[in-house]
Amino acid sequence: MSVDSPSLDPSLRLSSRMAGLRSSAIRDLLTFTARPEVISLAGGLPAVELVPRERIARAAQRALGDPRSVQYGETSGWAPLRETVASRESDAVGRRLDSSEVVITHGSQQALSLLAQVLLDPGDTVVVEEPGYTGALQAFGAAQAALVPVALDADGMDTAVLEEALTEGLRPKVVHTVSNFHNPRGVVLSAQRREHLASLADRYGFWIIEDDPYGELWFDAPAPAPVAAHSDRVLRLSSGSKTLAPALRVGWLHGDRRVCEAVELIKQGTDLCGSSLTQRIATELLDDGAWLDTHLATVRGAYAARSGALIRALESAFGERLSHTEVFGGMFCWIEFTDGCDTTRLLERAIEHDVAFVPGGAFGVAKGHPHAARLCFATYDSAALVEGVDRLRRAYDAHLRT
Ligand code: PMP
Repeated sequence: MSVDSPSLDPSLRLSSRMAGLRSSAIRDLLTFTARPEVISLAGGLPAVELVPRERIARAAQRALGDPRSVQYGETSGWAPLRETVASRESDAVGRRLDSSEVVITHGSQQALSLLAQVLLDPGDTVVVEEPGYTGALQAFGAAQAALVPVALDADGMDTAVLEEALTEGLRPKVVHTVSNFHNPRGVVLSAQRREHLASLADRYGFWIIEDDPYGELWFDAPAPAPVAAHSDRVLRLSSGSKTLAPALRVGWLHGDRRVCEAVELIKQGTDLCGSSLTQRIATELLDDGAWLDTHLATVRGAYAARSGALIRALESAFGERLSHTEVFGGMFCWIEFTDGCDTTRLLERAIEHDVAFVPGGAFGVAKGHPHAARLCFATYDSAALVEGVDRLRRAYDAHLRT
């Protein structure tokens, strides 16, 4: 179901936080693109044929042998999964994490929503990236935060711009960053900026939410050490959605133990607990190191090939009329038309030609990004991506004629 922003009809007696909410343009678009003939580069959908369904089935079968897998569980998550996450994340951040510093969430999206509730009062300032991840903008919007955008460039969030704003008196409670293979821009926050951002958090006392569902999806080399390796003021989120399966709805948060306890408290009133069954499945898969390494190598290889195919097709179809970010991993390529093409209007023609993408405006905080678009290269194989770009070119020609 797609929902319009509810107007504040007094008879509905909705809360004031509903006034500022708008439906995600991407979620809405997914309903249009469900037709099988559409090649949709719009949704951030992992390749479904690479989701390890048989491995999941075996893990599910094993889990179901234990009656506790169909029972309610702990609010903070199944203890062995928290151990597994603590141990994997310890390697990433370079210090030994305790499982009491981990909360398992219903996808990392729930962690964003819970953190917004735990950390933010209405009117609190949250620094977000421009363009930004829509799910984060929605979660902070629902908490009635004041969003302050900081621009991204090829090295991620421009922390010099952030520092200048801080020097001039900006006092955010939270800074949100998608540090690896950004959604929607595809870029990676540089190692130097990670350290800089962490040092600013220490100096000015804000929390960093490091939102990292794509970090494992690198092509040639892993991204630099997480921001969480440089400061205790980082609340780091990740997820099994892009590496195992989105349908497991298993994500996690780690960081300051007291914030984790607060998150657990809010979570009690939100969902009581996550799924005991899918947490057991995720644990078995994450603990099976040899299998996981092979699986991730397959996904990385496929996505690298697909991104290459998409970019080659774009370059040959549009030449100088289009620029794109260099893609080193993840699922997204951000394009900009250099000839002033309006991507919201182009999308209307594109849908007629059975291809879809997300116009840049969907990710805008203070800017419209009218000539930009996000393309997801993960969902289809290379041949379908090439066909998708061919349709896009025909839609573009039709757009020029109107
Ligand atoms: N953060 C970012 C940056 C994302 O792109 C997504 C998925 N679109 C999420 C969080 C949430 O993913 P999930 O809830 O499936 O873990």
